[in-house]
Amino acid sequence: MPAGTVTMMSATDVDFACTQCAKCCHDLRLPLTIDEAIEWLARGGAVEILCEAMPWLAEPPKHDIGAAHKRRRSFAASSGELPIRVIAILTAAFAGPCPNLQNDNRCGIYAERPLVCRIYPAEINPSVVFDSSHKACPSEAWATGLPPLVRAGRLVDARTVELIERSRETDANEVPLKAQLCRALGIDRAAISNEGFVVYSPPADRLLEALQAARQRASAASVSPRLDASESRWRLVSNRTASVAALAAVGAQGEFADTASTPSGSFGYLPLGDSTG
Ligand code: SF4
Ligand code: SF4
Repeated sequence: MPAGTVTMMSATDVDFACTQCAKCCHDLRLPLTIDEAIEWLARGGAVEILCEAMPWLAEPPKHDIGAAHKRRRSFAASSGELPIRVIAILTAAFAGPCPNLQNDNRCGIYAERPLVCRIYPAEINPSVVFDSSHKACPSEAWATGLPPLVRAGRLVDARTVELIERSRETDANEVPLKAQLCRALGIDRAAISNEGFVVYSPPADRLLEALQAARQRASAASVSPRLDASESRWRLVSNRTASVAALAAVGAQGEFADTASTPSGSFGYLPLGDSTG
C-alpha cells in the first residue's frame, strides 16, 4: 500500500522522532487483537474486556466516518426494544510500567509487541483529530525539522499506514468472535458510548479458554459465525440519571453505574476520561 493513503486529521504538518522515553508504556488499558490477548494471557498478563454500545436506529450517512468506524467494529444487538450496536474491546490492563518494559526502557517483547504499540503516536480512529498535546511524548519528540509524521493531513510513513489498515481490518474481522466471546462469558452489559465503558475482568484461565475456543471455531468453520441481534439482550449502563431515564423512555434496559456490580464483582464501570490506551 502506498504511503499517504491513510488520512489522519491534523490541523498542521507534524514532525516527530521517538525519544524512547517509554512514557507511552505506563498506566494503560492497551487495546489488543484476539491473538495478542491470547499471547498476553499466556505470558501471565491481565486482560479485561471493555464494552460500550450505542443506539442504532438507522444506518448513518456514508460521509460520517466516525459512525462508519463504530459500525465496522461493532455487532448488532438489542436492549429491550432498542436496536443497538455493541463494541467489545480486549485490553491489557496495567498500572505503572507495562509488565514487558525493561529497566533500559526497551520493550521486552519488541518483535511481538501489539499493533497499537507499533502505531503510537499515530491515530487508528479516522475521526479523531490528531493533537500532539494529547500524547505522552515529550516536547522534544515534536521539534520542527525532525522526520515528517503528517503532511497535508496524511501519514507519511508507509509502514505505519500499513499497520493502521491492518488494525482496522482485524478489528472488523474479529467482530463475530467478540460477539461469541460475550455470549460464552455471559457478558450482557455495556456503557453508553462516549460516556464510559463497562469493564469485565474474567479469571485469566477462563478468558484464555474462551478466546482459544472462539479462535478455533473460527478457523474450523473458515467463515464468520452468524450474528443474530435477537440473541443479545443487553443492559445499557450509565452514571447519568438523565441517560438512564432516556433509555427507559424508549423501552431500553438501562442501569445505573453504581448498581453495575455482580455479587462476584466481576465487572465495573469506567467513566470516560480515565486511561484507555
Ligand atoms: S508491549 Fe512493549 S511497547 Fe507495548 S506498552 Fe508494553 S513495553 Fe511498551
Ligand atoms: S511517549 Fe512518545 S517519545 Fe516516548 S517512547 Fe512513547 S512514542 Fe516514543
